[in-house]
Amino acid sequence: MSHLPLPVPLNVHAKQQAVLEDAATKSSPQKAFPVPHPTVSFWQTGLEITPPPDFGSEGGLTTDADICIIGSGITGWSAAYHLAKTFAEERSLSRPIRAVILEARDFCSGATGRNGGHLTANLHESFAAREKLYGREEALRQVALEQHNVAELLKVVREANQEAELDLVSGGHVELFFSQKEYDDAKEDYAAAQAAGVDVRFIEWLSKEDVQAQYGASYPGVRLPGNNLWPLKAVGLLYNLAKDHTPSFVLDLHTRTPATSITRLDAARWSVSTPRGSIACTHVLHATNAYVSHLLPHLYGPAGVIPARGQVLALRAAAPADVLTKAAWGANEGFEYWFPRPVKAHEAAPLVILGGGREAAAPRYELYEIDDSRVDEDIGKAMRAFLPSVFPGNYEAGREPEAEWSGIMGFTKTGDPFVGPVVDASGDAKAFEGQYLSAGFSGHGMPRAFACAEAVAGMIASNILGRTWMVPDWMPKHYLTVAQ
Ligand SMILES: Cc1cc2nc3c(=O)[nH]c(=O)nc-3n(C[C@H](O)[C@H](O)[C@H](O)COP(=O)(O)OP(=O)(O)OC[C@H]3O[C@@H](n4cnc5c(N)ncnc54)[C@H](O)[C@@H]3O)c2cc1C
Repeated sequence: MSHLPLPVPLNVHAKQQAVLEDAATKSSPQKAFPVPHPTVSFWQTGLEITPPPDFGSEGGLTTDADICIIGSGITGWSAAYHLAKTFAEERSLSRPIRAVILEARDFCSGATGRNGGHLTANLHESFAAREKLYGREEALRQVALEQHNVAELLKVVREANQEAELDLVSGGHVELFFSQKEYDDAKEDYAAAQAAGVDVRFIEWLSKEDVQAQYGASYPGVRLPGNNLWPLKAVGLLYNLAKDHTPSFVLDLHTRTPATSITRLDAARWSVSTPRGSIACTHVLHATNAYVSHLLPHLYGPAGVIPARGQVLALRAAAPADVLTKAAWGANEGFEYWFPRPVKAHEAAPLVILGGGREAAAPRYELYEIDDSRVDEDIGKAMRAFLPSVFPGNYEAGREPEAEWSGIMGFTKTGDPFVGPVVDASGDAKAFEGQYLSAGFSGHGMPRAFACAEAVAGMIASNILGRTWMVPDWMPKHYLTVAQ
């Protein structure tokens, strides 16, 4: 079967980076705040999880807390999970530590509740560039963080016997190369990672013929370990584990309760304002990713976090599950990513979750865009044509998706998040003492946010307990806002 032309442009990454770093865009008046009435993701439909989406949106508001976590995505709940574990083991507490999570919209309705579902640690991707920029040890720590994150999160899921409930599939990840440049760059990264001592035993290069024979697409690729799951259910699991872990950690949740400003209450406390009243707290964690600059305006733009809209489709394949295999996929410098969901008894072919298409939306590539109440028509058109063009026969051209939605990612100039105490534009932490952040996952949060939350939760717990936080050996130091 012959290939249709690809409906997306190739090698756009550098152009996107130029737009992302363009200082002129910084003056945009856009406010990074979650919009009302967002599109509904596949993950949000037919769900019966605790808590219900509007949990804690009515009745009394928590007025005092030790820790106020703003944002109920994977960062907020991972932090709560790690805090609960830490305080459960702490014998020196004279009273329980009290925390509250505020969520502007429904439970986990940001990027985590509307993402592509991939949980895959990068092993060699961008290794050469990172080594050049930050040195070998930091490049290795970056790999270590993702491996730690994925292993620990999977351990949580497995220990709770939730693999089936969360539709966890560990079917590997294949990255396809549509251009020689992509292939050459990936080979260079692989060689650099291998030379630095990354365990590359599980990375397998596939020729065009290999991919054609095994998967039905005639492009070369590389296969590595990878997983996918139902992200919103994973966060529901973290909620349950954090909430009921220990009497030493009391946790409230208020959805539909945006934090609108943060002001100093006294030398030790902050006051977090919401339309329902204020909360006094000694520690604040900004777990708001793309939206972090609403409360911290100096973080808007190329020196901070740039909102970027991503679009996802749930599309029924034409071929059965055994032809599609269980592999998850990425292509075109990571712009496209997709995986077949496990089939239910009544389904003849898998539903495939496919994200991407931003490279077809020049000149701004959906950067500086915070409106996830709509999808982009041109991107939708390109995405509908994408899989039929890559895997002729496995997908039917012109078939309409069963769901389509958007979500807002938080990009940074380097692609790496900011983790640690909030600092001002000059790097000084004094004015924000007691406030922390973990944000800017740049569209690659599932294999990083759980571990970054472990780090930032460790800093907060150490501060409460009057101890010194030690940098874990898997934590890249260049992610930290304050040098250690
Ligand atoms: C379309 C799309 C596809 C993606 N696909 C993948 C993928 O397949 N694999 C992967 O690893 N990553 C993927 N990502 C990225 C990943 O989803 C994110 O990196 C990760 O979910 C970030 O989690 P978070 O908790 O930091 O942020 P979020 O999940 O966005 O949570 C932040 C929360 O804060 C709330 N909030 C914001 N401001 C306020 C305020 N002032 N007061 C109260 N609440 C507030 C928001 O409503 C939101 O719920 C994708 C992202 C998108 C958008």
